[in-house]
Amino acid sequence: MKTIASEFAYFLRGRARQNLRVLLLYGLFLIVMILVYAFIFRFLMWHLEGREFSLIAGIYWTITVMTTLGFGDITFHNDLGYIFAALVTISGVVFLLIILPFGMISLFLAPWIEHRLANRLVQELPKGTTDHVVVFGFNAITRAFIGKLQARHIPFVIISASPDETLRLKDEGVPAVCGTPADPNLLKSLRVDSARSVVANLSDPENATICLTVRRHCQTPITAFVDTEEHISLMRMAGANRVIPLHKITGRYLAIRSTTCGAMAHVLDSFGELQIAEIPVHGTPFSGQTLEQAQIRQKTGLAVIGVWERGVFATPTAETILNDNALLVLSGTCGQLERLERLTGESPMDDLVFILGHGRIGCAAAQFLERKPVPFILVDQAENKNCSEHIPIYGDATIRRVLTEAGIDRAKGLIATTNDDNINIFLTLAIRQLLPHIRLVARANRDENVEQLYLAGADFVVSNASVGASILLNILESKASVFLTEGIHVFRRPVPTDLAGQSIADSRLRPQTGCSIVAIEGEGDSSQVSPPPETVLTEGTTLILIGTSFQEELFDETYRKE
Ligand code: AMP
Ligand code: ZN
Repeated sequence: MKTIASEFAYFLRGRARQNLRVLLLYGLFLIVMILVYAFIFRFLMWHLEGREFSLIAGIYWTITVMTTLGFGDITFHNDLGYIFAALVTISGVVFLLIILPFGMISLFLAPWIEHRLANRLVQELPKGTTDHVVVFGFNAITRAFIGKLQARHIPFVIISASPDETLRLKDEGVPAVCGTPADPNLLKSLRVDSARSVVANLSDPENATICLTVRRHCQTPITAFVDTEEHISLMRMAGANRVIPLHKITGRYLAIRSTTCGAMAHVLDSFGELQIAEIPVHGTPFSGQTLEQAQIRQKTGLAVIGVWERGVFATPTAETILNDNALLVLSGTCGQLERLERLTGESPMDDLVFILGHGRIGCAAAQFLERKPVPFILVDQAENKNCSEHIPIYGDATIRRVLTEAGIDRAKGLIATTNDDNINIFLTLAIRQLLPHIRLVARANRDENVEQLYLAGADFVVSNASVGASILLNILESKASVFLTEGIHVFRRPVPTDLAGQSIADSRLRPQTGCSIVAIEGEGDSSQVSPPPETVLTEGTTLILIGTSFQEELFDETYRKE
């Protein structure tokens, strides 16, 4: 009822009110025209045929003729009468059947539909929305991020500059508002001052504008993406609290997983002395052994806290077999990682990684390998105008001759990082067929293609969208580890009273919760990285654990104080 009333109210305001007046005048004109015709009809019938009709009959005849109904019950029988009837029919077609509907559409229907669409675009947030996340820009990262927000029941709103995109999102049930970053009124209507966080996910200049506009308005924390590293300090100056050079991070993740060489080349994140690293099993002496047989802890002091296999993260047991295509997640000190490198015996210079795609991400992967130094060969069909330091081999990577001439058969690792997922899938398939034992890492631009890339034969897939979304979520939830992907993070907890006095092995903490103890912080600054299983847990010390959000919750539930 309220909706119908508000729709009627539309016709009584502004332009619509003026149009209504025009319509009323036109209606009056039609009434006068019908009356005039009715009088002429009576006159002609009386004078030409001697027949008398009432005014009502005249109006009835005029309307049936004008609307082309023409029942034929009253007709003229002379030429002048026929001419008059034809004139009435033509004016009926013109004024009633053409001008009237056209006027109704252009003066009422079209402006009303436009008004309704515009209204949908500038809708305010639902009343009482606070602690929400305001996300500027919609792309694969935003889609992955809002999936995580929805799962956690965190309210959010997307701001898009495109009316079409905004409407499409609204139709999907995603809260979206159409607007531009520089509009301070928009910030007011989005209640940015009471928001939990603002995410700037547009181009670097637009993100800078968002930061400046939001900062002038309020102190809500801002996280901004940047395309190039040089813009990090600019974005900070503009007011961003956290700046994410996503292409560089994705490039790094790809590079880390493409080589077994350079122990420190595998570090994903660090917390003081503690390093979290990932290393492919392929090319190491551990391939095909169980975790117990590999004796990694005994030989290096490093703890194996997880195993990635085809995109699935699992907490290993002593019996877990370390397959050739798996990646080990390790924790320990720099010294322990170097010990591991000596054990695997491969020198970085013996490695060779092919990078297919020298765009923003491929270039970042190359820069990373360069510092280790792991040799690499870049292949791209186009020039990267932002890079003057690397010289790629030019050619379409999907053409086998291009790769064979570049010496692909010498490659030990390969990164497929073009901007087209179909090409990355094709490259993965073709290379896996050509070189079954190569370490093959692929980039997914869209989350939905991750599975396809694994099916095509990739050992590890890095999804740009889910890396971006995981980083955003870790920042939002103030996790200590911002850069560990796929929901795995590091967290601190005091030693639970129930476990005090027990050794790590006896505590059965890992079998019960899936979390791994990666370090123990004692009094003051003292900490023990990668404590061995026989370490006794003492009250008053703090555990540094690694696990998924679910495992963290399980830890809290298991050891919650009654
Ligand atoms: P970016 O998204 O910035 O990492 O760029 C992706 C890069 O992949 C661009 O430099 C493209 O030229 C490159 N690329 C796309 N398709 C192919 C292909 N078939 N062969 C080689 N390079 C490609
Ligand atoms: Zn480059």
